[in-house]
Amino acid sequence: MKEKEATLVLIKPDGLAKSLTGNVLTRLSEAKLEIAASKCLRVSRQLAEEHYKALRDKPFYNELIDYIMGKYHDRKKVMALVYVGPGAILRVRELSGATNPEEADPTTIRGQYGRITTKGVYENVVHASANAQDAEREIKLWFEPGEIIFPLYPTQPIETTVKKRIWS
Ligand code: GDP
Repeated sequence: MKEKEATLVLIKPDGLAKSLTGNVLTRLSEAKLEIAASKCLRVSRQLAEEHYKALRDKPFYNELIDYIMGKYHDRKKVMALVYVGPGAILRVRELSGATNPEEADPTTIRGQYGRITTKGVYENVVHASANAQDAEREIKLWFEPGEIIFPLYPTQPIETTVKKRIWS
């Protein structure tokens, strides 16, 4: 088992709207993994579409993009985290539960806190990377190298002249 296996977790907009951050983090702490990065952010359409590009042809795709962008909730944000440790991907998937919150084991995060709305949207509280390939792609999509407390993947220096905002 890989010692430093990494996985991406998103607490989705329904989780934030229902003030479930603490509950989710408590449940995930059962996996005894290390949090290597975390942030709150608004999800752009570009990020949402890139994240869920494998599901482009699914009938629920448009609702899924609206959901992860927070269009169904007051809190238009998600919390993104990177968890690292032995067997991280499977452990977090097990604690999260099945995709369909009505079918998820009731002791899992999705089973405890998820629901299907009357419009048929799966509000399943969390995203958790499905495998090592997805985890690497997703972590690189949601985080820059400097936002993660230790090196996970190879990086390279580049020269840029980006305009950025600083505290005044
Ligand atoms: P996950 O890895 O368990 O999140 O499952 P998938 O990668 O297959 O799907 C990504 C997300 O799309 C899920 O977490 C749900 O939010 C949503 N989703 C998946 N299947 C369905 C479905 O049959 N109906 C609806 N409405 N949403 C779905």
